[in-house]
Amino acid sequence: MNADGAQPAGLRLRVGARTDVGRVREGNEDSFMAQLPLLAVADGMGGHQGGEVASKLALETLKKAADGQVALVEVVHQANRAVFDKAAQDPGLAGMGTTLTVFLVDGNTLRLAHVGDSRAYLLRDGQLQQITKDHTVVQRMVDEGRITPPEAQIHPQRSILTRALGVDEDIQVDQASIEPQPGDRLLLCSDGLTGMIEEDVILRILTQEQDPQAASDALVEAANEAGGQDNVTAVVIDVVEHSADPAVETTAQTQPAVPAPAPPVERSPGPAAPPARTAPGRRRSWRRALIWLLVLVVLVGGGLFAAKRFYVDRQWFVGESDGSVALFRGLPVQPLGFDLSTLEETTSIPAVEVTQFPAYGELREGITAESEEGARRIIAQMETDLAAAAEEQRQP
Ligand code: MG
Repeated sequence: MNADGAQPAGLRLRVGARTDVGRVREGNEDSFMAQLPLLAVADGMGGHQGGEVASKLALETLKKAADGQVALVEVVHQANRAVFDKAAQDPGLAGMGTTLTVFLVDGNTLRLAHVGDSRAYLLRDGQLQQITKDHTVVQRMVDEGRITPPEAQIHPQRSILTRALGVDEDIQVDQASIEPQPGDRLLLCSDGLTGMIEEDVILRILTQEQDPQAASDALVEAANEAGGQDNVTAVVIDVVEHSADPAVETTAQTQPAVPAPAPPVERSPGPAAPPARTAPGRRRSWRRALIWLLVLVVLVGGGLFAAKRFYVDRQWFVGESDGSVALFRGLPVQPLGFDLSTLEETTSIPAVEVTQFPAYGELREGITAESEEGARRIIAQMETDLAAAAEEQRQP
């Protein structure tokens, strides 16, 4: 499709978009939206129909952001909830989820919200810059210095997400704002593109193909020629001109895509994020301080039992029981000796081996998670890390 801009004052854009099933998959679980002011890509996953339902439902919910009455990030939270609820209601859709990377045109600004491993790129002055960060296990390994970006590109776990819409009731959303300049070209794409062709090929195509529709077609064709192992989607957005407002023009600049500061109610890290190896000790101790503060508030309020039912029982952590890693429900603190946790499950993982990893150094104090699934993911990651360490020892 090709959309030429009948848009409000501000950015004038030209958009081309294409999605394709690829050469291997039976159905296309990717979806895109190119209805100004919204430009988005969603890559669904799970079940027979699940992925398709998840990505389409997320984009459908996004339309609520079109009139600017509700903040983009809030609408993304609503989309998360919509997918989560639908997955909970329909057994045939259980376990579905989706990535979501979206631009909202807001005057001369592009607002970006992002969850998952679809990507946004900015092509400016011949330089291609990725402006989103993948929420994947391998990206975390790159951040921690355990593998290099080229190793990540071919890593067997490269498509395992640490964040996706619809998996949990709550979601952490990366946000950024971009002030595009005339001549900029932006790309939204699913991992079926970036997993099949290198960034220098993407850059070459984006530079050679002048028309945005021709560019998105050429990108999809290149991914298919490289094997087309996944559904592939590309949305190419050209910034043609700005409004005539000089005050806006002179302030134009690009901001890096950094996660927005978490609001107070959003407990970091996100629900699905296992503990970072470069342990953010400060953040951890803040979190612990918050837990204590909550406990104090509860005690002062005298509402301990009510709070335990409505808050404590919804918390999970990974701790130690009889020398083994164990899964607990509740909070890993004991105010006035009052135990706020229940042992749910013991594993066969020796605690002493796990605590050798800096990321799990706080095991004895309890590594908190947002959900049971999040806690189980931490345990699974421990098993993976232990296996990897054992493998390294075998290969001198
Ligand atoms: Mg994909």
